Amino acid sequence: MLNDSQSEADPFIRAVELTHTRVVNLQIRCRILFIILIASPVFAINRLEIDENLDATNLSDIVEYYEDSTGLLTYQQIMALPAEAWTPNIHSSISFGFTNSTYWFRFQIKSDAPYKVEPVITVANPRFDTINLYNLIEGEVTQYIKTGSKVPFDEKPVKHRYQLLPLKLGPAFTSTIYIQARTSDAFQLPIELWPADDFRHHDQTRLLMQGIFLGIWAVTVLSNLVLAIAFRRNSIRGYNGFVALIFFFGLFQLSMHGVGGGEFWTSWPSLQDVTTIYSIGFAVISGCWCVISYLDLRNTSRIGLLILLAISGNAALYMFSYLFVPFRHIIYLLHILIVTTTISSLVIMSLYFMQGHRLNITHWISWFLVGITVLSMALARLAWIPDYPLWSYSATVLFVCMMLITTISAILLITRQRTGTLEDVLSYEKRARQDQMLLNQRLERNFRNKDQDLSHALSKLSETRQTLVEISTSDSVTGIKNRHFFDDIYNIEWKRACRQGYPICLMMIDIDHFKKINDKYGQSVGDICLRDVADAIKRSLRRPSDIVARFGGEEFVVVLPYLTEENGCILGERIRTEIESLITITAGHMIQLTISIGVATTLPTNDVDPDTLLQAADKALYRAKEEGRNCVCLATAN
Ligand code: GH3
Ligand code: MG
Ligand code: MG
Repeated sequence: MLNDSQSEADPFIRAVELTHTRVVNLQIRCRILFIILIASPVFAINRLEIDENLDATNLSDIVEYYEDSTGLLTYQQIMALPAEAWTPNIHSSISFGFTNSTYWFRFQIKSDAPYKVEPVITVANPRFDTINLYNLIEGEVTQYIKTGSKVPFDEKPVKHRYQLLPLKLGPAFTSTIYIQARTSDAFQLPIELWPADDFRHHDQTRLLMQGIFLGIWAVTVLSNLVLAIAFRRNSIRGYNGFVALIFFFGLFQLSMHGVGGGEFWTSWPSLQDVTTIYSIGFAVISGCWCVISYLDLRNTSRIGLLILLAISGNAALYMFSYLFVPFRHIIYLLHILIVTTTISSLVIMSLYFMQGHRLNITHWISWFLVGITVLSMALARLAWIPDYPLWSYSATVLFVCMMLITTISAILLITRQRTGTLEDVLSYEKRARQDQMLLNQRLERNFRNKDQDLSHALSKLSETRQTLVEISTSDSVTGIKNRHFFDDIYNIEWKRACRQGYPICLMMIDIDHFKKINDKYGQSVGDICLRDVADAIKRSLRRPSDIVARFGGEEFVVVLPYLTEENGCILGERIRTEIESLITITAGHMIQLTISIGVATTLPTNDVDPDTLLQAADKALYRAKEEGRNCVCLATAN
């Protein structure tokens, strides 16, 4: 069974072995082809073939470079170098970081166009000190171009902010191009080949974008500056630092693109160096200031504060040192400082965030993104990471976004703060009005109370006055009105009677033999008798207008308006009878008294003296005494 199967399998095995041999042969051929392919660039210069339909081409892909660390080699020496000395550039960009070396680049270009073409080699980086181009055809230098930022602007082959090298290519000739480049800044050589017209068109678009950036930057800086000044009292934390940061960072970005460089100040070619150094230096300080105030590091993190202050101090020191130290050293140190600043700020912000401090998440994310891109840009310029155009583009785009977002949020925040302030003022005013109302009510209440107190006091005063009047017009022994009161009231009554034409009756009353009472019972008993007599007289009078007063001693006077002579006598008699029947009981004595009464009546007139009536009544009393006392006598007319 086995033998059968082996014999059957022989052709199959042979076929497998044959296939294996063929595969091995193919592998060997591929290897040889691969070696040839790999080896060919080592011995031949990379060649770019172009025709009349030339497109923009990135030359980084085809150039080889040689580092001349002495910077002293001539192009003849360079051309004499063996092929192995050249290194093909394997990246899509050329970036060597900060270096003292001069770099040489070479490539070949063959024009298949039927006529002479003049493409332009562009280096979209204004920060190259010198760029020399040698165009060799069949070993002969047919074209030499010198440009760079150290070349006076007017002497540049093309007056442009970038380094432009216009080539002259004859038809069907192969040009070998050698480019020598040197810079004190970061060695980033974005080298491209463009048809001249296309580049002009492309450059206009790029210029437009840069113009837009410049416009946004200028407007943002100005508006934020105005906001920062206008609302400096209730400004947002870190806002002033942010305004400074966007100013200086924007200036740095502009200087990187050559805007505002040598084309304006042709006599000062190193202006861009100055702008670059100071814009980076102040941007670092502003960034630190911004983070310190935004996170309130003075109160929240002493270490964070010290780190950022140290970085700011370094930035200030480097800026000062630029007065004595060459640009290339300072710019390198400043880039190291950018890396330190962004890493420190990001770490501090992250720790701050993780420690649970309240932080606006949008601010945090935008700061983080900008921090990362700025860091990448700086690292790429240092050639510590591969250089992609993405870094600088995204830094610019993010920076613009951040400028806009932060400006808008600053405006909104300040408006809200302002509205808040207005609300505060309104509520304060409302509270003040309420307080004022309460105060007014209290004042009114107090005033009413005081008013009541006052009217109470006035009524008291009036009562007191009344009492005083009462006291001053009363007789203390008898309790009836005194002589003083009688004098006043008698004159008033006299005048009123004159006006109204009614009669007045006057009654003079005298106690008979009163002296004997005093003598017999004593003065105090006499006083009691006097009071009893007065009360009895008072009781006898019925009309409210009738007035009785003590005239003096034991004499009384009664003024009786409207009373005629006849009625006067009747009333006199009634009083006399009343006294006669009065018995004063005091100190165990029963005392009975009598009185004599003189009555006079008249119709008063203005030309008659009131005393006349008084004297008439007195005379009538005298007569009553003479007629035996205890009687009533009427005054005779005249
Ligand atoms: P006649 O009938 O003539 O009026 O006699 P008479 O004693 O009343 O008159 P006289 O004028 O001689 O005396 C009046 C007396 O009245 C003298 C005085 O002691 C007394 N007298 C006057 N005023 C007061 C007084 O205020 N209190 C007391 N107790 N006696 C008084
Ligand atoms: Mg008398
Ligand atoms: Mg008497």
